[in-house]
Amino acid sequence: MTQQFDVLIIGSGLAGLTMALQVADHKSVCLVSKREVSDSASSWAQGGIAAVLNSEDSIEEHIQDTLIAGAGLCDTEITRLVATKARESVEWLISQGVEFTREADNKALHLTREGGHSQRRIVHVADATGRAVQKTLAQKIREHANITILENHIAVDLITTRKIDKHSPENKCLGAYVLDNHSGKVITIAAQQTVLATGGAGKVYLYTTNPDVSTGDGIAMAWRAGCRVANMEFIQFHPTCLFHPHAKSFLISEAVRGEGGLLKLPDGTRFMPEHDPREELAPRDVVARAIDFEMKKRGLDCVYLDITHKPLKFIKQHFPNIYARCLELGIDISKQAIPVVPAAHYSCGGVMVDAQGKTDIANLYAIGETACTGLHGANRLASNSLLECLVFGRAAANTILSAPTQAFSKLPNWDESRVTDADEEVLITHTWDELRRFMWNYVGIVRTDKRLSRALHRIHMLRDEVQEFYKNFKISNDLIELRNLLQVAELIVESAISRKESRGLHYSKDHPNMDAEAIPTVLEPKNYQEH
Ligand SMILES: Cc1cc2nc3c(=O)[nH]c(=O)nc-3n(C[C@H](O)[C@H](O)[C@H](O)COP(=O)(O)OP(=O)(O)OC[C@H]3O[C@@H](n4cnc5c(N)ncnc54)[C@H](O)[C@@H]3O)c2cc1C
Repeated sequence: MTQQFDVLIIGSGLAGLTMALQVADHKSVCLVSKREVSDSASSWAQGGIAAVLNSEDSIEEHIQDTLIAGAGLCDTEITRLVATKARESVEWLISQGVEFTREADNKALHLTREGGHSQRRIVHVADATGRAVQKTLAQKIREHANITILENHIAVDLITTRKIDKHSPENKCLGAYVLDNHSGKVITIAAQQTVLATGGAGKVYLYTTNPDVSTGDGIAMAWRAGCRVANMEFIQFHPTCLFHPHAKSFLISEAVRGEGGLLKLPDGTRFMPEHDPREELAPRDVVARAIDFEMKKRGLDCVYLDITHKPLKFIKQHFPNIYARCLELGIDISKQAIPVVPAAHYSCGGVMVDAQGKTDIANLYAIGETACTGLHGANRLASNSLLECLVFGRAAANTILSAPTQAFSKLPNWDESRVTDADEEVLITHTWDELRRFMWNYVGIVRTDKRLSRALHRIHMLRDEVQEFYKNFKISNDLIELRNLLQVAELIVESAISRKESRGLHYSKDHPNMDAEAIPTVLEPKNYQEH
């Protein structure tokens, strides 16, 4: 049976929730989320949202800071648009009930400063901004009569006119197939407009700061449907993620290094002075590369961040969450160095969109981390990503609200007449492990031509195996995610192979210099479909 909605939104992070609240007064909305609504990278964001709100700051400076971080690849017009719309985006969040931290007099918003920003311009809710924003907006969508929420439902693939009839003159999105994770049934959702808000793809790497839901599904679905993707080689790695078998994705904030934390090898020797004169305070990508170098050279599982020279009182006062979380895991950071590894943190690339979030396919939008708007270029400036979710969520919503109403097409139901239950789940878990490990080792922070071509070879082998599995067995959440991860891995590697220089987050030992001209990497689906 087909369900019909004006707008289908896939993903319930900040981008998806913003879109839902913007259109729901006028449109019927279906919001699909693969776990609970709150399971998203947005909920995990700690720092905050960048916006020019202080009279000493200016839009021009925000633009300049973003362009410098982006290493020549930012789209200047898009950067201007985002910086200009930041204030009204933050005001919209306040109007929805988000209580940002204020100055002691309780009037002005309290602004923090982060790496790469020349001014204090980060609005925040203490050190858990994402959680507060997500909670406030999630409550609003649950109260809205026009929004149907499908939790524990995973979108499998988009339905397009070309999928139904490959000779169709135009490629228009008509909705999506969605798997109900409880019943195991695939439902058909017809929509006049479909929005991909599925977040990033950190789970393609062994170590990531991202939640389990970040498997690049939107990018893979859009690619399979015929959209271009851009700049996939630019993956931002956070230098210090806690390394512990029971701690999934726990960030050790850069503030620990800021307050004197020292990076050390297992024998206690420091190594940053050999890599950069700024030592532990070098920029994120430099520190991440140095740690990666030492780990690979010495075959280490992790390095250590040592703050034990500071008094216990100082540590508890400055890092209450890190202190408490590490102690739960048996690490007293006032007495022991913290085991850390760099971890995949943010995907700068994604589905190519215009200033309204429109993709190459009619009636299909991509917003948030899943999109490539041109804002981040070759490296994202801290706290610009939540801002991008807000600006593009609102811009795409305005376009959807002004679009003419269309008739719903009749859609074919999901065909599973030829498939049987899978008997070998181990194939999925093993392939997943293998992929994440070689992506980490071969397509991580420092790349070489040889490692990239090895990775591509393996991806092709695994993709064929998984495709076989996909065709013959009933689909499951894990299988859908694995298929998407392989697709995204291929896009990352293809993009990295095609960039014969080092720029921003892409560093190649074989091509260490930066070209004079900055050119985005754009992959066109027609060139790759035969793989
Ligand atoms: C630890 C951490 C700290 C961060 N701190 C900051 C910060 O301080 N400031 C900042 O600007 N940025 C920060 N970022 C980055 C920022 O959080 C993300 O870029 C942003 O939240 C992305 O929002 P989104 O709505 O695009 O995706 P997400 O918030 O990740 O939401 C994606 C949603 O899509 C759903 N989904 C995915 N695939 C499917 C599917 N196939 N079917 C159905 N649903 C699906 C997921 O379940 C989820 O609900 C941080 C990121 C991390 C991981």
